[in-house]
Amino acid sequence: MEKENKQIAQVIDLNKCIGCQTCTVSCKQLWTDDKGMEHMWWNIVNSMPGKGTPKDWEKMGGGWKDGNLIYGKLPSKQDFGEAWEFNFNEVHYEGNKNKAQLKPIGNRPNWGPNWDEEQGAGEFPNGYYFNLPRMCNHCTKPACLAACPTKAIYKRDNDGVVLIDDTLCKGTKMCQMACPYKRIYFNDERNIAQKCIACFPRLEKSVAPACVRQCPGRARHFGYLQDENSQVHQLVYKWKVALPLHPDFNTEPNVFYIPPTLPKTLNEDGTINENNPRIPLSYLKSLFGEDVEKALITIEEEKTKIGNSELIDLLISRKWHDMFKPFHQDPI
Ligand code: SF4
Ligand code: SF4
Ligand code: SF4
Repeated sequence: MEKENKQIAQVIDLNKCIGCQTCTVSCKQLWTDDKGMEHMWWNIVNSMPGKGTPKDWEKMGGGWKDGNLIYGKLPSKQDFGEAWEFNFNEVHYEGNKNKAQLKPIGNRPNWGPNWDEEQGAGEFPNGYYFNLPRMCNHCTKPACLAACPTKAIYKRDNDGVVLIDDTLCKGTKMCQMACPYKRIYFNDERNIAQKCIACFPRLEKSVAPACVRQCPGRARHFGYLQDENSQVHQLVYKWKVALPLHPDFNTEPNVFYIPPTLPKTLNEDGTINENNPRIPLSYLKSLFGEDVEKALITIEEEKTKIGNSELIDLLISRKWHDMFKPFHQDPI
């Protein structure tokens, strides 16, 4: 396949994501372990339903409406959750073995990146939640790029990665307002906006992004959307079971999700209620659009089919290298 005008994409299977945050930590270790970046989690896994990161990001606005760019709310550092200081010295280095407990010091935090982890919704025995990994979507119509008054944000032709040029960013924060996913952070030390870079130095060596490669759940597929042999192409276009988050924001995101399929609800007497999905369809539609209903039907049909299912084999990912082709080189 030609190198020109391709778009990298991720498909994350929400039925396989165990919420371990290995992706989150691998990104942190690699890219945001520097001054002014303490509060940054370019990849974060939120429990849904929930307020997410930053708090209530779904209600903050941004994106496009009727072809017009929308400037939403500017998320504060508190909305994202500050990087807290802990009493490591007291616990580990001052001879307080078994006496001192690890706790944040300074101002008591009242929100953090995953404050409502595993709370979810619903009443026992029909409570539910699922994990939703989130990062910059390297959108086809990036609102952040359109909003930047100094043209510091650009989208690469050869792979569709959206990047911020540090030398051109003047710290106006307009990108943070316009991104409806609120996936841009601000570095106060350097007065610049920063976000996921799609691990582009790895991509240039045919190595999958760290968050993809490190996932122990084999939940993340990666590749070029236009490449018919890639699993992302097959899941998005052929099987139509991978859907963008909030297509209503109109930025055409390139991270797609296999919607969660949880067990049916239980009746009061403990029998299974065949007609009542545990996660309300209306909630899934609010996240993934109307197409989620058809996607769930396809998954269910393929799951219960007699004999082999190409789709289920894809989702099981027996040969994990195939999940990232052509980005399957060893990171070393
Ligand atoms: Fe989910 Fe994989 Fe991230 Fe773990 S590493 S939280 S399984 S996407
Ligand atoms: Fe820009 Fe936000 Fe889209 Fe990323 S998710 S490309 S920051 S609009
Ligand atoms: Fe972080 Fe790379 Fe994943 Fe982006 S693609 S969230 S930079 S690990």
